[in-house]
Amino acid sequence: MNPMNEFDAAESIELLQAMIGINTTNPPGNESGLTKWLAAWLKERGVESEVVEIESGRSNLVVTLRGKTSDRALLYTGHLDTVPPGQQQWLHDPFGGEIVGDHLYGRGASDMKSGLAAMLYSLVLLKRQGFVPEQDLILLATAGEEVNCLGARAFVAAGGMKNVAAAVVGEPSNGDVIVAHKGAAWLEITTRGSTAHGSMPHLGVNAILRMNRMITKLAAFSFAVQPNKWLGMPTLSINRIAGGVATNVVPDLCTCQVDFRLIPGQTAADAQKVIEDIILALQDEEPGFAAEVKVMHACDPVECPEDHPAIGLAQACVEENAQLPVVVRGVNFYTDASVLLQGKKLPVIFYGPGDDAQAHQPDEYVSVKKYLDAVRFYETFAKRYTM
Ligand SMILES: [Zn+2]
Repeated sequence: MNPMNEFDAAESIELLQAMIGINTTNPPGNESGLTKWLAAWLKERGVESEVVEIESGRSNLVVTLRGKTSDRALLYTGHLDTVPPGQQQWLHDPFGGEIVGDHLYGRGASDMKSGLAAMLYSLVLLKRQGFVPEQDLILLATAGEEVNCLGARAFVAAGGMKNVAAAVVGEPSNGDVIVAHKGAAWLEITTRGSTAHGSMPHLGVNAILRMNRMITKLAAFSFAVQPNKWLGMPTLSINRIAGGVATNVVPDLCTCQVDFRLIPGQTAADAQKVIEDIILALQDEEPGFAAEVKVMHACDPVECPEDHPAIGLAQACVEENAQLPVVVRGVNFYTDASVLLQGKKLPVIFYGPGDDAQAHQPDEYVSVKKYLDAVRFYETFAKRYTM
């Protein structure tokens, strides 16, 4: 038996294995199986938590370590759900938590049950040590990140972010310190024409040909913005197209979906304007050119304020625990943080033991060493962070 305040590596690894063993693939998510199990696991270790139901089978878990003040809380957060195992055959059971060498396998091992487990275990350690932080430390485990950020939205709607002044997100960073991520704007363009029999195309207006002209201009588009220090340039990708009803009918409708990835300073409205400007240009060339654009989904870019002390502290915490020089970088994917921060410029750090290259892959794994380093990181960061 270990002394109560000691870091029990076996106990922390068993926590991660148990979390992988509870299936939270989304859809449908079913996070409540995991939140209830975690609440009981925490209670056995003297840590109170709250399961916050969102809808049937879906819930967030919130753990608060009370500090000396409550008005400027530090938030630790990560998501409970995972993507499904996928069609490709796995060599390891996706829910088995099997360990081979330094690799622990399973769906969510990297993205991101390891980050969440390490955060939870760090709270247990802090509690065992009787540590009282300067400010409240709130751990939020969210439902539904992989589909629509359901849990993060519910937490914001319930006023959960009111006192939060800084955040650490446990998404896979491969042990690096991530200080920015891109946002996204998913747009749908519709071009309209008029239908006619396929044998008499001159009597109709072909919506697919209109979309063709739209896409030609879009493919040649370049953004007139300065590259972001961490994220470089924004991107756009034309990823889906649909139009036409039959081989012998001139199509009167064509739709196309475009994935914009935005850098700080840009919003979905900027992406929308790119398309609207092209539509105006096409209307100049062809009066009556009928097209419209709508935003289907948007997530803001997130960036830690430049030179914020949280960045230096995160670097120091990684270097002490991992004994390696740390890489500071940005990433192209987005996270729950877009929803949680709601455009507020709070200090935010992304650090997790998972490898972002492993996310959503068959035979997903996490390095056990990086996982144990992450427990230490979250413990040390919570002890040293004051604001
Ligand atoms: Zn994730």
